Amino acid sequence: MKTVLVPGGAGYIGSHTVYALVESGAEVVVIDNLETGYEKAIHPKARFYRGDIRDCAFLDSVFSHESIDAVIHFAANSLVGESMTDPLKYYDNNVGGTRCLLRSMVRHNINIVVFSSTAAVYGEPENIPILESDRTAPANAYGETKLAMERMFGWTELAHGIRYVSLRYFNACGAHECGEIGEAHKPETHLIPIVLQAAGGKRENVSVYGSDYDTRDGTCVRDYVHVMDLAEAHVLAVDHLLKGGKSDIFNLGNGVGFTVSEVIKTAENVTGRPIPVAVAPRRAGDPAQLVASSQKARDVLGWNPRTPSLKAIVGTAWHWHRSHPNGYQD
Ligand code: UDP
Repeated sequence: MKTVLVPGGAGYIGSHTVYALVESGAEVVVIDNLETGYEKAIHPKARFYRGDIRDCAFLDSVFSHESIDAVIHFAANSLVGESMTDPLKYYDNNVGGTRCLLRSMVRHNINIVVFSSTAAVYGEPENIPILESDRTAPANAYGETKLAMERMFGWTELAHGIRYVSLRYFNACGAHECGEIGEAHKPETHLIPIVLQAAGGKRENVSVYGSDYDTRDGTCVRDYVHVMDLAEAHVLAVDHLLKGGKSDIFNLGNGVGFTVSEVIKTAENVTGRPIPVAVAPRRAGDPAQLVASSQKARDVLGWNPRTPSLKAIVGTAWHWHRSHPNGYQD
């Protein structure tokens, strides 16, 4: 049985991936500083070490205690807006943290890592849908740090032989069907949880960031992908590398774009409740459209999203929000 170390396994996508790993029969070790993650989100079968990936002595002690076959690295800050007002926080945690993690992996001869990257590495795309080979020109500091991390993996492979898979997520959303884990950020900035908080009466309205983009209704277009489908891609990527597969980069999305207004309409439909909106100025760093081609992940990893419909995705998120209106405080 393989043992996988998951830095950031108490966060949103990390915790769902830990569930998918446990369900696949893997042993899982989570490390997390709980700055944005929740201890309650960690699967009860995972072994948990609280600490920060910038603490090299802490990482070394975990690698010494545990017999790790592969790492799935989620530990990072991930808010576009915050990265524009506090870019150095992103360089420190995302780039600096990854440097420590790789340094410790080299010291302990761990040579397989799967890593969460983002559609934000593309910036304003050249083509829709976006291919992995398209130009990368991040429009925000978050995307810039993720691209720097991807490149750090490339150089580290050349020097030390650590093979990696970088997964460029489009917009993660939804929740595990068990109802125990879901999306909860403090403060919440992501569209679908905000829309569902408005549907649940926890906020007055949804601010729509810009209605004058060059899109079919003037609001931004994104490719929404179910978090358990993302989680499954990580399990497949670890298996790909364990079987000797080469380092690679994959987009993960459903290949269909929805505008912010369409997401709000879908949520009204799913919840049966009206969702008041207020048009607000554009958010710094937001490209007009991000839609993935994920053909490569399908061809190479055998990835096949099980919940591609936006309505079904929002349905699983609504199930979580209704049972946990205060997130993990419930
Ligand atoms: N958005 C919005 N109002 C909000 C939150 C987000 O209009 O309260 C828009 C945002 O501008 C973007 C889309 O919804 O076009 C998705 O944003 P989110 O923060 O969920 O994910 P991101 O695309 O930044 O990863």
